[in-house]
Amino acid sequence: MRHFPAFLDLQGRTVLLLGAGEALAAKATLLRAAGAELREAPRFDHALLEGCAMAVAAGAPEADLAALHAACMARGLPVNVVDRPEFCSFITPAIITREGITIGVSTGGAAPVLARLIRQKIEAVLPPLLGRVAALGAKFQAAVRARIPSLPARRAFLERALTGTPADLALSGRQQEAEAAFARLLENAEAAPRGFVQLVGAGPGAADLLTLRALRALGEADVIVHDRLVSAEVLDLARRDARRIFVGKRRAQHCVPQEGINTLLIELAREGLRVVRLKGGDPFIFGRGGEEAQALAEAGIPFEVVPGVTAALGCAAQAGIPLTHRDAARMLTFVTGHTRDGRLDLDFAALARPGQTLAIYMGLTTLPELRDGLAREGFDLRTPAALIERGGSPRQRELRGTLTELVARAPAWAGDGPVLLLLGEAVAHGALPARAEAAFA
Ligand code: SAH
Repeated sequence: MRHFPAFLDLQGRTVLLLGAGEALAAKATLLRAAGAELREAPRFDHALLEGCAMAVAAGAPEADLAALHAACMARGLPVNVVDRPEFCSFITPAIITREGITIGVSTGGAAPVLARLIRQKIEAVLPPLLGRVAALGAKFQAAVRARIPSLPARRAFLERALTGTPADLALSGRQQEAEAAFARLLENAEAAPRGFVQLVGAGPGAADLLTLRALRALGEADVIVHDRLVSAEVLDLARRDARRIFVGKRRAQHCVPQEGINTLLIELAREGLRVVRLKGGDPFIFGRGGEEAQALAEAGIPFEVVPGVTAALGCAAQAGIPLTHRDAARMLTFVTGHTRDGRLDLDFAALARPGQTLAIYMGLTTLPELRDGLAREGFDLRTPAALIERGGSPRQRELRGTLTELVARAPAWAGDGPVLLLLGEAVAHGALPARAEAAFA
């Protein structure tokens, strides 16, 4: 992070506006809205800075801009010259406002146009009356604090109130009803907070392949229990102060055994916490999500499952490989290459049948056994295949060839990311999608 984000209180403070023009007029409007008193001057003079809290300039002669910048730096006054980063001690973000709510977006000065595009997106998803929800929170702040002294319990309550019925009413402009609903909820707040677990699919790596539901769960969680496959980019989207617990898994060497994870989820939920169990890809595809769901159900903990883009889908999309194809694959099979008691426990006769695509997870170390098992059932070893590492992420790598070739080349090729094997005639029907950057070029 190049700049420290902060919101300045300029109520009744004097701000120097140096220069002229539209850009400066736009700043003047914002500064007035923030309650600042403006001292406007076309040319710089040291005396102008007397009693100022900050200075903003645009459209003044170069020498004046330089002098203003030097004088402000000497006095420790914040200074911003529009579009001249070398004369700025602070930069201003693109902003989105909803009554009491202000959102600032910055690219650190690198690409203001991008910041504006991001602002448009945020504008589109935030309801226009969101500020009313904030007002509701403000109105009941003291009452909530008095009634629910414990911070986690209070947070859980506010999350319920500010996303539930009171918020819905406020967003539709029915403020009085919203307040009544909030008050009712607060009256019944004594009911012990109930924990809740969400088994959330984090997708294959890129944060923008998360579902919106997963994103919401991450934003609301008190604690995130995650493993090695979850990318840092996705974890960054979780609430800043959410506790993060790593229960990494890597083939045989489990950091925390599965029973331990099950118990952990149950204990956290019993503390009344909102728990997100974040898993790479989809929780119900080779993720042992089924076992966790069962343990939660047996313990009487409410839970839900939020699906994710499984590795096979992320890999195939980014590599341009259709998983099914009218001419080449009328069936898609998800296979684990993981051994049980050192043996590949698979129905090779079924897997060797033509006309399907095999998506083989955890198959890198057992590639030779997979090949041998398939070969025994008459599988054509010249079948097109692709090994894909970190599929669906910006660091995706691919190795293509026949199954025989891949088995020979995989050991030298493999990196330290997760690898998926796609196998079948459809792999040869791929066409690389034009990338988004190409569309911009
Ligand atoms: N639940 C996960 C799979 C967990 S099993 C899902 O739905 O994707 C772990 C295996 O998944 C890895 O050994 C690898 O074969 C595969 N895998 C997971 N993420 C991957 C990725 N980004 N690229 C390639 N393979 C991946």
